[in-house]
Amino acid sequence: MTANILAETEDLRVCYGRVEALHGLSIRIREGQIVTVVGANGAGKTTLLSALMGLLPHTGRIAFPRWPTAALSVEERIRAGLCLVPESRDLFGTMPVEDNLRLGGFSRRGDRGYSAGQSLEEVFALFPRLKERRRQTANTLSGGERQMLALGRALMAKPKLLMLDEPSLGLAPLVTKEIIAAVAGLRDHGVSILLIEQNARAALAVADHAYVMETGSIMLEGPAEAVARDPRVVDSYLGAR
Ligand code: ATP
Repeated sequence: MTANILAETEDLRVCYGRVEALHGLSIRIREGQIVTVVGANGAGKTTLLSALMGLLPHTGRIAFPRWPTAALSVEERIRAGLCLVPESRDLFGTMPVEDNLRLGGFSRRGDRGYSAGQSLEEVFALFPRLKERRRQTANTLSGGERQMLALGRALMAKPKLLMLDEPSLGLAPLVTKEIIAAVAGLRDHGVSILLIEQNARAALAVADHAYVMETGSIMLEGPAEAVARDPRVVDSYLGAR
């Protein structure tokens, strides 16, 4: 069954200078799913996202079977609906929440049927906290609110495949729960998601399919529930409750 594959890699290799960081990765992201990649620091998760975005030279294959051209530039990937929320969030700190959000819709301006105002209301419906704080500058938000803003800004571009790099980074467990629940809500609104997380427990609880990455290679993959029960994953990533 290949019809619903949104993105896939085959034997993907990325080098930084002479050091190979990804050693031939093959992954698939199906439409309507949350796919998670869990792994320790330095496993190569961010490198994978950057390569999918088209930001790094690589060998092997990266394909988006549902999108018009085979070899897409970064700009074409963004226009087709690929969106990356980096670990750093990359907000404009001195600008108000609403302006940060509106900038997220910039790549869609002029598209038929796109309304920035309507998208803004949809984001506010999903994250009422952002509406309350729409005039507050981004650098005065709490960590959780900043992550909501980064997610909201990404949603302004109407993504089809949203790639999230460590959305729980630096957040308290309760706030992490809130963010991960919001991510699950996005899937229910038809956005497919590639979720990179060190918080394996939170990611596996919400994902449909999971890959476990160790030093540039996939060491395990399968339905998220099965991966969460795998003794190697329990030992290395989940530990005692
Ligand atoms: P983390 O969870 O800590 O962000 P990660 O799984 O996202 O880790 P990457 O950031 O993809 O891992 O890094 C994978 C490997 O590639 C690491 O060994 C890292 O040191 C190396 N690396 C990443 N970026 C560069 C770079 N620009 N130049 C050289 N080496 C790099």
